[in-house]
Amino acid sequence: MTEQIPRRQFFNRGLGAGLGVALLPGVGRLTAVTGTAPIIVTSHRNQVSQNGITAGFEILSAGGSALDAVEKATNMIEIDPGDRSVGYGGMPNEAGVVQLDASVMDGRTYNAGAVAAIENIRNPSSVARQVMERTDHVMLVGRGALEFAKSMGFPEENLLTDGAREAWARWREDHSDRDHWGPPEHLRDREGSEEVDPAVVEAVAVHGTVNVLAVDSEGNIAGITSTSGYAKKIPGRVGDSPIIGAGLYVDNAVGAAGAVGRGEDVIKACSSYHIVMRMREGRTPEEACMDALRMIEERYRKVNPDYYPGEHFVALNRGGEVGCASMSGGARMSVMDSDGLRYVDGPGLR
Ligand code: ASP
Repeated sequence: MTEQIPRRQFFNRGLGAGLGVALLPGVGRLTAVTGTAPIIVTSHRNQVSQNGITAGFEILSAGGSALDAVEKATNMIEIDPGDRSVGYGGMPNEAGVVQLDASVMDGRTYNAGAVAAIENIRNPSSVARQVMERTDHVMLVGRGALEFAKSMGFPEENLLTDGAREAWARWREDHSDRDHWGPPEHLRDREGSEEVDPAVVEAVAVHGTVNVLAVDSEGNIAGITSTSGYAKKIPGRVGDSPIIGAGLYVDNAVGAAGAVGRGEDVIKACSSYHIVMRMREGRTPEEACMDALRMIEERYRKVNPDYYPGEHFVALNRGGEVGCASMSGGARMSVMDSDGLRYVDGPGLR
């Protein structure tokens, strides 16, 4: 008989399931890390994201801004109903409600905006941009973020697709009396892990995030991070994605970085800020991403040697060098510049 899975266990499975699945046939693969500005990159690897950065690159090629390019690319990814990790079609929280987090940062003006736990808005990254450009605040959350979005003309609509609702309903049916939130993942007792129905795990263990970063022809840098966060999260839970310095950081003098993975780890490590500061000291984007992974891993090793988190970082510098790295290996990002669309692979810490 299939045993049921505590909800905490869902949180640690299937990391990267939302990174993008359908690899484009015919797209070149690189391990080199050099591109040329203008350039746009994303942590996603699926067809929609490739279309997104291609559209973003058209803006850059026409002399448009990095900010417009990353917003265009992210919007295309956010409205994809097939992407369970971002925007419309994202997996709901434990109450069956889709709550989205997003942030934007403009390296030219040293300005930033974010929304967290916003409901019923398809393009949270564009609301974040409005927060950045039309207010003196950096972050709006929940009801306030929704009211602000509506006042700015964003339509309110249901974001829960049938597929996401069915997966959530299946998870809810499989609750057991052992189902609990539990202590922080890295302090959890690993004893007693149960066998669970892989189909149930697959159906609900979706999380992921998109990072889109760009340098334009004027040398200005911008970035966006957007996510629906963890499926089955506690209503109101906010991850790293809308936290400037955690899920995203941009500095025109250096470059930009973004994070995918367990937001709780990334928030505590200030990972995107860490990566940009390492690049400032002269590390390549890939080295800086590895350094940020090491910092998380070393700290957890002290309290639980068996625990391995699952972060994935992407970065680019003002010269157009790009890089990525992942805790568990298989790091890959999509890149578009005048040399065309391609993947760049990165190292894993393990
Ligand atoms: N970073 C996201 C969050 O913690 C989730 C993910 O990327 O998997 O909300």
